[in-house]
Amino acid sequence: MSDLYDVTIIGGGTTGLYTAFYSGMRGLKTKVIEYQPGLGGKVSFFYPEKEIYDVGGFPGVSGDDLVAKVGEQALSVDPTIVMEEKIQAIEKLEDGSFELTSTKGAKHYSKTVIIASGLGTFDMQPLNLKGKEKYEGKQIHYTIQHLKQYAGKKTVVISDSRVGVDWALALENIASEVHIINRGSEFKSVYEHDVEKLELSSVQIHRETKVAELTGTANELKEVVLDNGLSLSIDDVLVYEGLKIEKSLYDQWGLTTEKGRIPVGSNMSTNVEGIFAAGDAAIYPHKTMLIGSGFSEAMNAVNGAKSWIDPKAKSQVYSTVIYKHS
Ligand SMILES: Cc1cc2nc3c(=O)[nH]c(=O)nc-3n(C[C@H](O)[C@H](O)[C@H](O)COP(=O)(O)OP(=O)(O)OC[C@H]3O[C@@H](n4cnc5c(N)ncnc54)[C@H](O)[C@@H]3O)c2cc1C
Repeated sequence: MSDLYDVTIIGGGTTGLYTAFYSGMRGLKTKVIEYQPGLGGKVSFFYPEKEIYDVGGFPGVSGDDLVAKVGEQALSVDPTIVMEEKIQAIEKLEDGSFELTSTKGAKHYSKTVIIASGLGTFDMQPLNLKGKEKYEGKQIHYTIQHLKQYAGKKTVVISDSRVGVDWALALENIASEVHIINRGSEFKSVYEHDVEKLELSSVQIHRETKVAELTGTANELKEVVLDNGLSLSIDDVLVYEGLKIEKSLYDQWGLTTEKGRIPVGSNMSTNVEGIFAAGDAAIYPHKTMLIGSGFSEAMNAVNGAKSWIDPKAKSQVYSTVIYKHS
């Protein structure tokens, strides 16, 4: 089978990307399959512009920069990367290899599988308003990818949670005007000092208020009309109304699970021979859900997969000895 890979990694988060690098470094034909249109998993999704201080070798690094670095490291070994496919089934074939099927019906074949898919997939809860479709992705956004894209813009944040408060505060000195629309009277899961900061800031808070209507032309959203009759002239709208999390059905893939995660042995092996797990997807005593833990587990999982494919292979290697960047 020409499309038979040595290692197929489910998930292109930080763990999956580092797994891809290490797998390539160990000379394995490697594929990564990611559901989202972008790589980086939770780091890209939840905190792309926040500083991370607890990854070895980086005294401080933004989420985006970390993902760019680990992505560059992964690409250096030339893995196949498949985007916007969600694996829904894994079947062990008679020869011991695996057939992975995505929700699009695509089939992927592999001698081993490394599950680096966290707890599953997540999507933002969409805004529930008529006519929003024509502005989504243009002026209606569900994540802040880059703060500077809001420079000088009139921005409305629709949210009743900590995420919306964080966004409004982050944009206060960048956007020309920031409004936050909360349908309730309080903000949920938020630190008191952040609410105090918000109240002292120039952000205009609209409590117990809903968006009634979006008005504009076919191509341009111009106003957000509130249910109290107020019309806000705007450039951009940011929406956080919660997440839709679709948990991975690991048990349907024949895997033992514990609280939605996959128990693993010391080489990240699962109960199914040839399937390994790393990162937030894996669980073992004293497991920590950290980026650095995923990196270490990625190496163990790849070394496990290498030994599974070739029992005579070395249990580990040094990059300084076997691998040279061109
Ligand atoms: C708000 C927040 C702050 C954090 N701060 C820190 C910090 O400061 N330091 C730190 O070390 N850690 C931090 N963490 C934890 C850290 O983000 C996670 O441990 C890390 O992102 C896990 O990476 P992962 O690649 O294992 O999983 P994920 O990042 O969850 O990536 C899994 C990927 O798999 C994809 N996927 C899932 N199912 C499928 C499927 N069936 N088919 C295809 N693709 C699939 C998903 O789309 C996703 O991209 C934080 C977490 C959060 C939420």
